[in-house]
This record gives sequence, structure tokens and C-alpha cells, in this order.
Amino acid sequence: MQKIFLILSLFFLLIPRVNAATIVYPKSQNVTINSACTFFIGNEDVTKILTINGEKVDVYKTGAFKHSVNLEYGENVFEIDNGIEMQIYKINRGETPVYKPDTNEFAKLTENENKTLLNELKGIKSNSEINITIDAGHGGKEYGAIGCLCEKEKDINLQIAKKLKMYLEDAGYSVFMTRENDSYIGLRDRVDFSNKNNTHIFISIHANALPDSRAKSKINGSEVYYLYPQSKAMAQSILNSLSKYTGLTARGVYQRNFAVVRNPNAISVLVEVGYIIDPEDEEKLINSDFQNTAAKAIMQGMENYLNGI
Ligand SMILES: [Zn+2]
Repeated sequence: MQKIFLILSLFFLLIPRVNAATIVYPKSQNVTINSACTFFIGNEDVTKILTINGEKVDVYKTGAFKHSVNLEYGENVFEIDNGIEMQIYKINRGETPVYKPDTNEFAKLTENENKTLLNELKGIKSNSEINITIDAGHGGKEYGAIGCLCEKEKDINLQIAKKLKMYLEDAGYSVFMTRENDSYIGLRDRVDFSNKNNTHIFISIHANALPDSRAKSKINGSEVYYLYPQSKAMAQSILNSLSKYTGLTARGVYQRNFAVVRNPNAISVLVEVGYIIDPEDEEKLINSDFQNTAAKAIMQGMENYLNGI
């Protein structure tokens, strides 16, 4: 009898008792978010009814959910209840910082087009003469964003980057990878590595998240970023191709002063393939077939650009 009791006790101790819904974002139960709205992102057993302050949460077929909520100034209390366990989140909202864009910030860059680089690219006859650096965003201690299903952005970025490398090498291009495993690399080191390899084309791969302020709108789809004017046409071409082949929404091409695209010596773009915090986008991003399609689409977009210059 004692033996049975011992075995039963052990059995119950060993069963993981995860009863509460997994909340990926907000990152803790007491946080400050200075925005008029935010969202709860995470995952739950699809058979359970999940509510936040009594409002039913749509749980996607993968178990992922993204539920937006309004925030009042001061303390906002949220009860997340799946019928088994309730979790209390206290979100403090302070003043939203006012963003004053410097309208001159990008205007002065228009003269910075690297004509030498463009002429060099135009003169190239063979793919093997084109040096391409692929940059899988984040890595090591830097996870990047975390998806609803707890996937880490750094892993998805690397998987797509490796596939892109394979397709580019099959087509004869000279390819360099800023990282080929789960290692941490600083932003400046990524640019230095690119310059050291006389890179003509630099493609940074990411998966998107936030911001809180846009929680109320449907956030999903692809975005491509560039800084120098010389990179805009390729950014647009990659976005068009990604959207055409993956079916993801083309959200747009944007000029941003991101460190990895702040390199005048290459055609540099940062591709946010999809939104890791959107249950539908996330389901695709973690799928190997989808990653292949996305990688091929990025290459096609790059080649369409090259053929057009
Ligand atoms: Zn990222």
C-alpha cells in the first residue's frame, strides 16, 4: 500500500501542471506601458475558453492568441481566466512620449547615393562576381521578439537566412553569413563583416513584433526597410516578390536609420518577413515550406532588381 502511495505521489509530482494560459507579452504581471492600447500575446489550449476581463479571447487553431486592450492613465487591472486558473496583470500607463520626427534627418541622404557601387553592379556579368551578405537578425543572448507560441525570432531568422543562402549559392552568387549558428553578434560587427567581404548586397532577415500603439489595428504582413536612397528600389522589389509568392500583406517599404542598413557601401535592406506576434503570420513563419517560399521570394525580388538596373 505504501509503495502504491509512493508511486502515485511521484506520478503527480512528475506531471507538469500547466493550468494557466501562457502569456508571452506583457513580459511581467506588473509593467508600465505608455500607450493608449496594448495586447496580450500568448498561447492556450484551444479547447479552453479564455477571457480577459470577461471578454472572450479568440484562440487561433495553433493555440496562439493576440488580444488587444485599451489602457487608461494610471493602473489597469486585467484578469486572464481560462476557467482553471486566473492570472492578474497590472499595467501602469504614464504619459506617452511625444515623438518629434526630424524631417531633415533623411532629406540630406539623397545626395549620398553610391554611384560607384551602382555602376559596379551594372557592369557585373556573372553571379559569382556579386557578393551577398545575409544577416540573420539577433542570436545568442539576444532573442529578438518572442512569438505567441513562444518561438524565438532569432531562430526563425536563422532558418530563413540559411535557406536563402542555399538558393543564392545554387544560383552561383558569392554568399557570406554574419552568423550560421545561434551566436551573438553586435550590430557594428555585422556591418564591418559585410564591408570586409566587399559586399554589394546586404540582406538582414527579421520577424516583426509590436508596437503597443498599433495594437488596435490588424498588424500582420511584410515590411522592408532601407536607409540610403540607392537601396530603395531593391527594398520595393523584395517586398513585391515576398507578397506575391507568400501571400502575406505588403505593408510597405520604409526609410529608417537602423544600424545594419546604415552602410553606404552596399545595397542594404532589412526584411521583416512577417509578424511573429500575429497568430496567422506566426503559423507560417515557423513552417519550413513557408520559409523556403519566403527565401526564394527574397532572392527573386533581389534578382528582379538586378535585372532592372
Ligand atoms: Zn528583429
